[in-house]
Parts: sequence; structure tokens; C-alpha cells
Amino acid sequence: MERLKGIGVSSGRVVGQALVAIQRTQVIRFPVAPGRVARELAALERSRTRSRGQLQQIRDRIAQRKGKELAAIFDAQLLLLDDPLLVGRAAAIVAEERVNAEWAVERALDEVAEVFSDIADPYLHERKGDLQDVAGRVRMNIRGEKGGARDLFRDLEAPCVLVADELAPSVVAQLDWNRIRGFATDAGSRTYHTAILARSLGVTAVVGLRDVSRRIPPGASVLIDGDSGDVVIDPDPALRLEAEAAAPRARAQQPRPVAAAGPVRTRDGVAIALLANIERSDDVAAALDSGAEGIGLYRSEFLLAGGPPDLAGEDEQYEEYRRAVVQMAPRPVTIRTFDIDERQLARPLVDSALDARWFPQGERAGHAGLRGIRFGLAHPAIFKTQLRALLRAAAHGPLRILFPFVSSVQDVRAARVLLAEALGELGAPGIAGGTPAAGVMIEVPSAAFTASTLARETDFFTIGTNDLIQYTLAVDRTDERVSDRYEPLHPAVLRLLRQVRRGAVRRGIPVSVCGEVATDPVLLPLLVGCGFTEFSMTPGALPMARHVVQETNAAEMARIAARVLTLETVDEIEHYLLEAVDHQSVYDGARR
Ligand code: PEP
Ligand code: MG
Repeated sequence: MERLKGIGVSSGRVVGQALVAIQRTQVIRFPVAPGRVARELAALERSRTRSRGQLQQIRDRIAQRKGKELAAIFDAQLLLLDDPLLVGRAAAIVAEERVNAEWAVERALDEVAEVFSDIADPYLHERKGDLQDVAGRVRMNIRGEKGGARDLFRDLEAPCVLVADELAPSVVAQLDWNRIRGFATDAGSRTYHTAILARSLGVTAVVGLRDVSRRIPPGASVLIDGDSGDVVIDPDPALRLEAEAAAPRARAQQPRPVAAAGPVRTRDGVAIALLANIERSDDVAAALDSGAEGIGLYRSEFLLAGGPPDLAGEDEQYEEYRRAVVQMAPRPVTIRTFDIDERQLARPLVDSALDARWFPQGERAGHAGLRGIRFGLAHPAIFKTQLRALLRAAAHGPLRILFPFVSSVQDVRAARVLLAEALGELGAPGIAGGTPAAGVMIEVPSAAFTASTLARETDFFTIGTNDLIQYTLAVDRTDERVSDRYEPLHPAVLRLLRQVRRGAVRRGIPVSVCGEVATDPVLLPLLVGCGFTEFSMTPGALPMARHVVQETNAAEMARIAARVLTLETVDEIEHYLLEAVDHQSVYDGARR
């Protein structure tokens, strides 16, 4: 029995097997019951077969269009796939340590990568990139089409407690808390937004434990006491029994948000549109299930998983976009043109692992190079292929085109010229319903500062707060030394958001917010108070957002937002906002 001390932020005493989620590397480690080891091994083998099929397909397409020499890189990846040091070793780890296959692949990769780093040979160094690529592919394919935290946790045997380095509110909002009894995190304080959400949900939580995610082995029995802030590893039987007896009572108190279609209103009647961020047309069903009023952001680059962008043909793209539009109709679908980095083209073969699901978010898009619209303008053939596919799909329903990473009005003008050219190239059979709306992602500070100019030349704005915050504050979120400076409540960020909204309102164009902040239970009411009425987020977080919006008094939040915008530091803002929100009782459970 070992006792760790943290900050109890949400009441209750629960006990369960530890499920360890290391968000930083997006690899989740959890224990597998002895009877399920064979199933886990089978999933690993199926993933290898699926990965082999994908790699062979990419190799053949590249051989056809670019020649055999380049395609050979994928032969090397196919060999790595069968190397006993990777999947073979991962299988041994699953069997010996009884952990999930994703985690085992990550461990096997670490072991081989270490061997590679000790070798000076530049050729072998290059192979390290291939190895990571292959491991990422295998990991992604283990759960097939599933993959999000919510789906992964569905396979769990209850009861569990979640132990994590950190937990974004968007993740917490999506978990099934009937299966997970509570959580403990390395990061956090009482004002941690995830803690507020835990209180609102009635989920027991202890935060600020520093290294709990490293100290607790997966599968260990863990007790979390949200009142005292204690986390007990391997509690003695008496303690465990006591907590087990108390747990059902705590769970029964949980308000469970339910998905419901149609517009949602704040307590004082302001209509708020809640839309979904998706990555593929396959995600539309989940968006509809969660009550999405449309797709606010479709990240089209996910379509390219496994291949360079010039290999995604117009017809293939058209089919994919058409599927999304038809399934979602009559609701709008906003499709963002590829937000990829030049690196994917400059080293298309080594870096072919374009699918962001195996890159941490920041790493995928944390670059300020030839990315987003810049990439499209530099590669007009690729860009226009996509635009033609989008224009054709727009004939089937309300599709909107969104340009990412715009940093000047010239970018918009140049993109519109190419859009007009693409339309011309389609000729008579082009589109039936006229040119679709074309909007701009506001995610670069220069675009935010010139919002009212940009608004004159664009049909709508979508604010991408993930990038806008990191570029405004010059904080690389993947750099642990500064990641705590990534602060949505920084006065500069809030003032910029106000400026963008004013620019849009002045020119009469719609503006929505589609970054992570929309899933935050404190930031969402603040943004409503700032006058934003449209938000787009991961489908799993939509029921929670509905719950938060319905509890929000928009007029009161407008007064709070006005005051927030006069404050000078993040601490002052956070302190004032949390007090105000607690006072307003936006969150039932936050009153303690
Ligand atoms: C953003 O930057 O906020 C955004 C939504 O885009 P992505 O997360 O895809 O970079
Ligand atoms: Mg972005």
C-alpha cells in the first residue's frame, strides 16, 4: 500500500483497476484480463495484415505514378512490418505483461529505436523514420476504424479508474463514466478546467499529483479519494471494501448528458449552434448521433492517410466529400482544404504517415512553414484537384469550402482565383447550385489582426483556437518546458478573439469557433458571453456542450466577459472567471 497526496477537486471515494493514459504521446496503457490476452494478440495480428495491405497499395500506386525506385521505400517498410523486433516483440510484451497492444507496440518501438540511435550510420538513421512510420500505422490499425479514447475505453472491463499525465476537458467530456469511476492526474489545480467538469459530472477526481501516471503500473488496484486528495496504490482489503460499497452511490448521482438534435438555447434564450469537427465521412454518423447541427470543420487531410497529396485523385475525393454532404443534408458541411505541411511533399515517402492519428496534434500541425493555404498556392495542381472535387460535391448539398492557415488578404485573393479557375475547368457539368461559400480559418495572428479586411473578401470565418493560441503566445505545445504557457485565457488571446468577432459582425459574415476551447466548460460560457453563437467540436463532446450552454446565462456572461477583458493577467482572469461562474451556478456540481 502506498499513499500519494494530491488536490481533491471532486468528492467521492472510488476504487478500481488503474487504466493509465499518457496523453503526451497519445498512447494509452491498460491491463488486459488473462482471458483477453488472446483477443489482444489477434487484434495485433489483424493490424499487421491491414497495415501490409495498405503499404502494398501505396507501393503499387507510387510505382505506377512515380517509378519503382521510389516505391522501394515501401518495400523496406513492408520488411520492417515483419521484423520480429517490432510486431513480434510487441506480441511478446502483450503476452508477458498483459497490456494492450498499442502500448506494447510503443514499447517495442522504443527498444528498437534505442538500438538505432547508438548506430552512427546515416542510412540506419533514416530507417528510424520508417520504423516510426510503420509502428504508427500498426498502432492506428489495432482498433480499426475506432481509435478515439471513447471507443478504446468501450473495451474495458469495469470498474476502472483513469490515471493520466493530463486530461483535456474534451477527453473527459467524451468518456463513459459508468465504466470509469474517477480519475487522478499529474497536472492540475483546483481551477483546472477538467476539475470543474469533474465536479459538474459528479466524477471523483484528484489532480496535481505530479508523477502519478508514471508511478502507478497499469492494472494496479487504486483508490482515489476526492475529499482528502489521497490516492492509494494497492489499498488494503478493508479500505477497498469500504470504497467499493460507497462507489455505486457516487455514480448514481451522476448527471448524464444526453445527445439531442436541434438548436440549443442558453438559460436566457440565446440560440447557440453546435456543430461537429470530423476527419472522414465515416464520422458523420457519430456527429448526427451527438446532435450536431452540421459539420463545422472537416479536416480533409485525413483522406490522404498513407500517401502524398498528389495521389488523391479528383474522383476519389469527390466521392468522399459527396458522401459527407449527402449524409448530413440539409445541414451544412464545411470542408477545409488540405492542412498539410510541405514536409509531407518534400519527403513524401519517408513521411508518408500523414494520418495525424499517430502524431500528437501539435507535432502534426505545429509548424509555420509551407502549410495550409500556402501549400495549396505553391502546388496549384494539387489544390485545384481538390477544389474541383469540392465544387462537384457541392451540387449535392450545402457544402462550404474553408481555407486553412491564411495569413493575409493576398492569400484569400490567390485562393479565390484558383477557385474560379477550378470552376472554369469543370465547364458546363460543373456545379448545379452556384459557387459554394468560401471561408477562412482564423488561426494565424496576422489574419486575426486584419479580420475586418479579410471579412470583406470572404464568406465566413472559422476561428481555429488551437493554432491561434500557440502562434499568438509563441508557445510550442509539444515543448514541455513551455507548454504550461499555452493559455487560452491570456488577455492577448481574448482581445484577439473579440477583434475577430467584431470584424465579422461589422461585415455581416458568420463566425464560429472550432478549436479545443469550445469543449472547455469555463471557456465555452465565456465565449458565449463574448457574443459567439456557433461552435464546432469533436462529436463526443457535443452532449456536454449542450449541457453547459443550457446552464449558461448569456446576458450575465456578457457582463462577466466585459470585465474579464479589462483584466491584465491570466491568474486574475482565471480567478475572477471561476468565481463568477461558480456564483452564477453555471455548473451545479461546482458549488462546494
Ligand atoms: C485549430 O487550429 O484550432 C484547428 C481547429 O485546426 P487544427 O486543430 O486541425 O489545426
Ligand atoms: Mg489549425
